[in-house]
Amino acid sequence: MFRQTKRRTAGRRNFEEVSTFAESSKAVYPSRLSFYDLPPLEEITLEEFESWAIDRLKILIEIESCLARSKPLKDIETVVKPLLLKFLPLNPSPSSGSDAQIIAERKKDYYSHYTLRLVFCRTEELRKKFLKNETTLFKIRYNMLQPKEQLEFAKLYSDKLMWEYISNEEKIEIMDSLVAASGPVIRTILSIENSGDANFSLTSEQLRQHIRHKESFIKLPFEKVPNLVSLRQVFLRRGYAYIPSTLQVNLLSVVFSELLSQALLRTFQAIPRLEEDDRLLPLLNNLSRNFASIQYDSFGDPEKASDITASSVTTPQISKHYPLCASHLQNSLVANSHLKYNGRQQLGLFLKGIGLNVDEAMKFWSFQFTKSSKMNMDSFNKEYKYNVRHTYGLEGGRINYKPWDCATILLKPKPQKGEYHGCPYRDLPLELLVDTLGQMGIQDQHDINGIVEDVNKNDYTVACTRVFEITHKQQLQGKNENLHINHPNLYFDRSRQLERNDAKAVGVAK
Ligand code: SF4
Repeated sequence: MFRQTKRRTAGRRNFEEVSTFAESSKAVYPSRLSFYDLPPLEEITLEEFESWAIDRLKILIEIESCLARSKPLKDIETVVKPLLLKFLPLNPSPSSGSDAQIIAERKKDYYSHYTLRLVFCRTEELRKKFLKNETTLFKIRYNMLQPKEQLEFAKLYSDKLMWEYISNEEKIEIMDSLVAASGPVIRTILSIENSGDANFSLTSEQLRQHIRHKESFIKLPFEKVPNLVSLRQVFLRRGYAYIPSTLQVNLLSVVFSELLSQALLRTFQAIPRLEEDDRLLPLLNNLSRNFASIQYDSFGDPEKASDITASSVTTPQISKHYPLCASHLQNSLVANSHLKYNGRQQLGLFLKGIGLNVDEAMKFWSFQFTKSSKMNMDSFNKEYKYNVRHTYGLEGGRINYKPWDCATILLKPKPQKGEYHGCPYRDLPLELLVDTLGQMGIQDQHDINGIVEDVNKNDYTVACTRVFEITHKQQLQGKNENLHINHPNLYFDRSRQLERNDAKAVGVAK
């Protein structure tokens, strides 16, 4: 897809020249957190350009999904931290020894951010999404820093922040006032942070000690923090507001967001120049196609296929794990003994993905099509046998087709009269959708309003994820295993996995 040979272009350094620069690049990444205020200068390969951006995108998709479901920052942190460790780790600088690994981590973080700026600068809507998700990521990462690193970070950007830290003497002098003004909000935040610890409690003296030793206060002209002043969360003296570390993340995120917003507009204005580069544009277009374009890809697990047969797929034991698109298709097939082309493809590939092998698929489709007197076996063999075998890569070009993800389903033409493919959150009339949700056991008006709101915002996968969470509420309790549904087979696999976990917990073999 892309030119792999090195190309000499006027004004650009080439790969051979990079090594000398890379050795000194530590100076470019002095902190593991960044405002990304300097554009990257080194060259990277096209594979790195794409794969680093995809890794970052995986994290932003989770954040997007959590924000759409109004998760508090603490819950988002629980979901995102393991992903950060896996896809974008950022370790502190070692006190001594080699820091090659640290430089590599920071470089990936830096470049992936800049690649996604190119991807998401093109429309107002994409810019807003990127800004919101990156700012949340910034807050999560700031909270992961050690207090010493937080101080260093503020010093690093002192020209942008213009923060003045108070001295230890001043802190001791006004300690009572600081505790009285900011103590309650610090206590609340610490309680939320330690909500997993049933024994957590803080006496007044412990709170005072925490403020004394762990909180670094800055003072700013009070008009710069009107929200904190109106909420009475900060001590005011001689025109200055005294802000503890616990509340500084909000100030930093405002600065981060403002800088990024300006940078995205500048990037957008520079985009036409990129059109000269025939390697990058297809890649950027591909990445921006959809925030949910990362495919779920864990098909072919033999364990999950053991009980998937022509007769079992229509039983409640199996079909209760289907997402709405699959159950809508299968119910229509059972009721009408027929499905049109797009419906057969969508359901056929979904069933293949959950483990229905080609022999069982043939039994399933032939039984469903011939069970009424509308069609006999000869006609089925003539008209549809090839189609089923083709789905499994046994005819024609012998391509092993994968089940469609939500993005693919949403890109297909909408179903016409007598067709049932597509995504029901997009395609069903709202009244019918609400009825269907009721049949799935979703009766709570607050839940229904949330789903309808997602649908009205065209956030169909968010609606589907919300339905998954509501219908699996008990199994998900205390697990914090939030994930965004972007594939019907992911919905199915997660649902079955949760059931298996439950069964293991009570010692019942499923
Ligand atoms: Fe199916 Fe995806 Fe729509 Fe859910 S969001 S119903 S999994 S297409």
